[in-house]
Amino acid sequence: MRIDLHAHSSVSDGTDGPAELVHHARAAGLDVVALTDHDAFDGWPAATRAAAEAGVVVVPGVEISTRLSGAGVHVLAYLPDPGYPPLADELARVRGNRMARLTEMAVLLTKAGLPIDVDDVLAVAGQASSLGRPHVADAMVAKGYVADRSEAFATWLAEGGPAYVPKYAPLTVDAVRLIGDAGGVAVLAHPWGRGSRRVLDADTIRLLAGRGLAGIEVDHEDHDRYARGALREIAAALDLVVTGSSDYHGTGKTGHALGVNTTARGEYERLLDLARRAATTAGREPPRLGVV
Ligand SMILES: [Zn+2]
Ligand SMILES: [Zn+2]
Repeated sequence: MRIDLHAHSSVSDGTDGPAELVHHARAAGLDVVALTDHDAFDGWPAATRAAAEAGVVVVPGVEISTRLSGAGVHVLAYLPDPGYPPLADELARVRGNRMARLTEMAVLLTKAGLPIDVDDVLAVAGQASSLGRPHVADAMVAKGYVADRSEAFATWLAEGGPAYVPKYAPLTVDAVRLIGDAGGVAVLAHPWGRGSRRVLDADTIRLLAGRGLAGIEVDHEDHDRYARGALREIAAALDLVVTGSSDYHGTGKTGHALGVNTTARGEYERLLDLARRAATTAGREPPRLGVV
């Protein structure tokens, strides 16, 4: 059974539509795929409709941008109630700020001699409801300023770069609590990837586990063999679920093909168990997923 618990559609910064992503998951030999767009649930209906057609189980999720000690930390939420007002409101706030940030980045680039406006970014972003730096990068590529997203980030958009603008994000610990209150399960995304490694040491992960964190994404392309080994030990010590996933973005990110990393069946089942318990505690109908 092949399980990939982290993938993005064009609702955020992936390039496949949500239904297309599910069909690609099938073609990649996956039995289970989680749709985890940044800060948005909008892809869920199309993806779950496509699931039955493609014969793939879709786990509805979201990847929430959070802040911890001044660094960005991504938290994956599986099976939260998308209508739970505190969570829905918080994500709406994050998305609203993403739009304001886009304008600021366009101004900085224009001042630096690369004229660009928000409409250029919206033109390449298509139907995305969660707008971010990858869309600015795509607009820069379309204008011929840079060759690809990687160059746009390395030269202009990365944290500390000349066109970087910080974004609003909830505190990691608050996001973990919100996810639990919404009947979902929280997993740290690529904790030792770029940006978040310096703030997510073993003690901090222990603290988050005490506040409801359920798992760690250990097998991710941002983690080398050493990082995976050390994170696996932390997870074992804290009894956290270990996941593996691609962080697929379609053609938007190379080296992240669907199924490049996968989650063990036993770990996936633990995650579903925790989701059932969280839903019951939150007074919700436990989630029902198709069976392969
Ligand atoms: Zn991420
Ligand atoms: Zn991601």
